[in-house]
Parts: sequence; C-alpha cells; structure tokens
Amino acid sequence: MTDAKKLREALLLERKNGYDVISVELSQQMEAYCQGYMDYLDKGRTERLCVRETVALAEAEGFTPYEPNQSLKAGDKIYHVNRDKSVFLAVIGSRPLSEGVVIGASHIDSPRLDLKPYPLVENSDFCLLKTHYYGGIRKYQWASIPLMLSGVVIKADGSRVEVEIGREPGDPVLTIPDLLPHLAARQSQKPLHSGIEGEQLNLLAGSHPYPGEGKDRIKLMVMALLNEKYGIVESDLLSAELSAVPIHPVREVGLDRSMIGGYGQDDRVCAYATLKALFDAAGERTMVCVLADKEEVGSVGTTGVKGRTFDWFMRKLCDSQNTHLQDCFAKSFCLSTDVTAGYDPNFADVYEKNNSAMLNQGIGLCKYTGSRGKSAGSDANAETVAWVRQKLEAAGVLWQMAELGKVDEGGGGTVAQFMAHRDIDTLDAGTPVLAMHAPFEVTSKLDCFMTYLAMKAVFEG
Ligand code: MN
Ligand code: MN
Repeated sequence: MTDAKKLREALLLERKNGYDVISVELSQQMEAYCQGYMDYLDKGRTERLCVRETVALAEAEGFTPYEPNQSLKAGDKIYHVNRDKSVFLAVIGSRPLSEGVVIGASHIDSPRLDLKPYPLVENSDFCLLKTHYYGGIRKYQWASIPLMLSGVVIKADGSRVEVEIGREPGDPVLTIPDLLPHLAARQSQKPLHSGIEGEQLNLLAGSHPYPGEGKDRIKLMVMALLNEKYGIVESDLLSAELSAVPIHPVREVGLDRSMIGGYGQDDRVCAYATLKALFDAAGERTMVCVLADKEEVGSVGTTGVKGRTFDWFMRKLCDSQNTHLQDCFAKSFCLSTDVTAGYDPNFADVYEKNNSAMLNQGIGLCKYTGSRGKSAGSDANAETVAWVRQKLEAAGVLWQMAELGKVDEGGGGTVAQFMAHRDIDTLDAGTPVLAMHAPFEVTSKLDCFMTYLAMKAVFEG
C-alpha cells in the first residue's frame, strides 16, 4: 500500500491561497498592475468615460483608429469606438485570420441611476432629479451616499454638451437621503427590496430659490445654474443621457491592503485585464479585445454584444485577408471575461462552498452561468475548458472553477452566450467579487492580477 499522504498528494485536489504560492517578484508586479487598474476604475465611472480612458491608454500603446478598408499587416494595432459607448481593439497576428482569432470580451457598463427624460421636479422647497435605475441594483444601497452626475446632452440644434458634476474635489455632489431610524419603524418592516422604492430614487439637487416672485423658483435656480455652466435649457434634457454614479474614491481594502474597493468593478476589472493583456501579449493569432456596453440589460441595442457592429468589425478584418467571417469565427476562441461571485462567509447560506470562487485563489473559470437548469448560460464543452486549463497551467496562472451560488439560489448571465451564438468556442471566466453591483464592490488584488495573466496566456495560446 502507498503511504496515504503521498497518495493524497497524487490523487486529490487541494485548493490553495494564492499568497502561499505566488513569488515575491510576481507579487511586486501585481502591486504595480493594481495601481494602474485602480486609476482606470477611478476615471472610467460610466461606459463613455471608460471608452475615453481606454482610447487614451491604447493610443499611448500605438493603437490607431481603424479606417474602413485600410490594409492591415501583422503587428498593426487598431481600435474602433462604437457610438462612444463600446470599443473593439485588435492586434493583427502573424497567423492568418482563416486560423481564427482569440477574443477577450468584457463589458464596461455598470448598474447606475439614469435621469428620467423629465427629471426636474420641485417639491416642498427642494429641487429633485427623478431617476430610472439601470441594471440590477439593490435600491436601498443607493441612498445616503454621494453621487456624481455624468453624461451628454444633445441640444435642440444638435450640438453636444458633456456634463460632469461632482467629480472634482470641491465640486458639489448629489445624494438620495434615506429615512432617519427614528421614523423608520414601518420602513424597517418592509422587505429589503422595497425599503427604498424605484420612485424614491430622487436625487437632491437644490434648495435655494431663485430671487424674485413666482412658482418653482428652486427648480429655476438649478436650471439657471445648468444653463450658466452648460448653456442648456430644460427641454434639452429630453435628449440627454445623464447618469448618477458613486463618487467615493477607489481604495485599498483591509489592513494588509490585499483587496480593492470601488464602484463599477463589474466588469471594468476584467475590461482592464483584457486591455492590458492585449497590450502585453505576444500572440501569433490576431488578438481582439471587446469592451461592450449594455451587458447589464441583456447585451441589447447598437452597443451591446448582440448588436452587429462587432460582426462588421470582424468582417472588415477578414475581408482584408479574403477570409469568410464564419470560417474565422469557427476557428476562434473567446474568453468571456466577466466577474463572478466571490464566496462571502457573511452570507454563507447562498453559496455552495465547494464550487464557489474564493478570493485569492485566482481567476474563476465558469463552465456555465445562467440560472435554474443552467438556463440562459453558455455551457462551454469540456474540450474548451481543458484548452484554457492547459494554457493557464503552462503559464503558471492561479485559477479555480466557479459557480455563482447554490443551485436554484439565483443566477446571472454574461456576453458568453452571444459570442457562442456566432460559432465561437467561448468560456466564461472572471475575477471573484464581493458585493457585486453594490456602489462599493470588493475584489482581491491577487485575483485582479491573475485575471490579467490568464487573459495574456489565452491570447498567447
Ligand atoms: Mn458583469
Ligand atoms: Mn453585472
């Protein structure tokens, strides 16, 4: 009989904390990487801001805007911005597109509060801005925190104004005051999802009346200030996209500074990892980075992954090499990089610990997402999982398999199914996150870095 200890090592799987495995050199690289990520996260608080930051980083790396029908050669670095809200980047490989491409697909939209078309109301000597939430928020989390306002207004004459209020230190901010506990006896009895209702998500925007006579002088003062700063009138808000997002700074979390806290890590943590991997990878196949919009509402519209702009971009690349798009897709691989739920001992009863992503154990690979019987998930085949596993093992990347939570406890989806619909072998993978969709989400530095290393290994695979 073999010694049980030896046999256990040979046969059984042991899950390890990444800090017990990672080298000193790698942990130094991790710190530098995470500083860059925190800066990106801090600046890119909406998909539009994130596109802007992405383009700035890409141009510094030598990427240029794709000109339709431009000739392309190996080593060319191009990007295409779709309606200011999503962006595709590619590094043309030395191997032909007929051999397929390697895609990293993340999303850069995050849950938030969008202003309604008629946002301004005056009530009881306050000016309020009415909102309609975007994505899956837990409404009570958005009360009593400082929020900034960001977006665009297209005026009646078609001119465009960029609005940003609350970003700079010293700027005023907006907030939704919650009820004081002294009067919250009835509110506290309500189910959590209705403690703050959708129609209570009204931003406090002013209380100072415009001097003089007449009604709505507080609303008038707010509009006068908007007019002074941006040259807009109330009717211009009818054709606007203004979002309220948390403004608290991105911070290191924990006395050991091992974690990162900030708004919008779903999914900018993977977006940054995919982008940086694209910059740094030395792949032979063409590498494509997709930073999509609208994932949080089903990948719909012109800027979501279901839209045709991605196919147009890829068809243009294929045309330059006389390759049929579907021939290229059939040989391509996509890592759909989107966050997964990190195991949280505070809420242990919703997780199945064996199959949960643990913080500091590396990027989580999700064979499937979805809910109930894997519905609306992209269930990657074993061959695809194995291919990625080999790449990660060969590159020394720390990884784990992950399910979102207990069977029938809930669920979620990603862009994976829409890439798979194109006949692209696709696997879900992402950084484990605590408090996903909250105004302050938490990740571990080690997992953030491993997400980057994983994407780089796949690009080079
Ligand atoms: Mn996501
Ligand atoms: Mn999400």
